[in-house]
Amino acid sequence: MTITVIGAGIGGLTTAIALKQKGFDVEIFEATPEFKKAGSGINLAINAMQVYKRLGIYDDILQAGSYTNSMIITDKNLKPLSKIDLIKFEEKFDVRSVAIHRATLHKILLKRLSDIPIHLNKKLSSLTQSSTKINLSFEDGTTHTSTIVIGADGIHSVVRQAIFDNTKIRIAKQVCWRGITKINIPQKYKTELNELWGKGKRFGFVHINQDEIYWYALANYKSNYKKEFKNIELSKFYTDFHPLIGKIISSTAKNNILTNEMADLKPLPSWHFKNVCLLGDSAHATTPNLGQGACQAIESAYVLSNCLSQEKEVETAFENFEAIRKKKAVKVVDTSWKIGEIAHLENTIGIALRNFVMKVTPGAIAQKQTSHLFELNY
Ligand SMILES: Cc1cc2nc3c(=O)[nH]c(=O)nc-3n(C[C@H](O)[C@H](O)[C@H](O)COP(=O)(O)OP(=O)(O)OC[C@H]3O[C@@H](n4cnc5c(N)ncnc54)[C@H](O)[C@@H]3O)c2cc1C
Repeated sequence: MTITVIGAGIGGLTTAIALKQKGFDVEIFEATPEFKKAGSGINLAINAMQVYKRLGIYDDILQAGSYTNSMIITDKNLKPLSKIDLIKFEEKFDVRSVAIHRATLHKILLKRLSDIPIHLNKKLSSLTQSSTKINLSFEDGTTHTSTIVIGADGIHSVVRQAIFDNTKIRIAKQVCWRGITKINIPQKYKTELNELWGKGKRFGFVHINQDEIYWYALANYKSNYKKEFKNIELSKFYTDFHPLIGKIISSTAKNNILTNEMADLKPLPSWHFKNVCLLGDSAHATTPNLGQGACQAIESAYVLSNCLSQEKEVETAFENFEAIRKKKAVKVVDTSWKIGEIAHLENTIGIALRNFVMKVTPGAIAQKQTSHLFELNY
């Protein structure tokens, strides 16, 4: 029996690795014709790194990425408002948090899958299920049959649309620009992720290796970000922030800046139907405000492979998977949405109040909330 994974993103690749380690035959179908070196980084938090440690990939990621020991929210002038000290969590969970180039992570994951078939340029167009098999059709006119399908095909999942009606993608009305650049910044930022909150916009930056910095910038928009930010000079848009921000943006090649609108998926009543199961953004896409979308996909990948190896009845395995993973994944989606609203306040009094509350809130509260995020309940 071969398990078919649709989508070779972080979720799909991690699932394939975990399933392979449990002795399953796996195959992947991926829409893109080639894996490109996308100009963005990713933060792998302590929960995801625990999973990668269990899968034996931790050391490769730690070596190729950049270690982060604190996450700091600041005002627009880089004055700290709140800090999460990750060292305590490192000691508790025996792993470090890492920021890494997405393409580097992809390469590390792909290396573990050199012996399994990965079919590129295979964009799924439809999926139908009979009592014994699942029929897959691709945009290039080819077809394939399988007995178990994992839909790891992202927030706009075709697999999800084939098994469920009325799922809802929620638009957060925030646009995000992302870039990677080589620039010398003060040494104190070497192991920190800093995120500056301003008025209706914010900016974050973190090292992803010795030389490169990954940054992201978000801003509110009213109805059409393409029109509202047409021809925007991004470094000028952030002139009210600390001067370092303008320098970081200006040092980045413009054609390497990615632009996306932020969205999530309204929590689904179920993640599976018969022998088809969703995983990662196709099941629990979240806004990126907690930096947890991929981390949650990684957790799901590990749990799903465990459930399938422990339970012969596939549908029961999928039910067990949901029972273990759903509560936390949904909490991440909800919390992240709320943080996005607070981070993007536009009202001056509201911002002053927010910043004051953040400054006086004991660090222990934020540390405790974060602890739940990093704990694995399996
Ligand atoms: C601005 C931003 C910053 C983020 N930062 C972080 C962070 O720091 N930490 C973190 O943990 N998460 C972060 N995330 C979230 C993270 O990127 C996603 O949650 C994660 O990539 C989801 O992985 P996935 O494999 O489920 O889906 P995807 O990454 O979307 O992968 C889906 C794959 O399926 C393929 N595919 C799509 N449709 C089809 C089809 N019809 N047929 C075949 N293949 C198909 C796609 O080409 C793709 O390869 C961020 C997200 C954004 C937008």
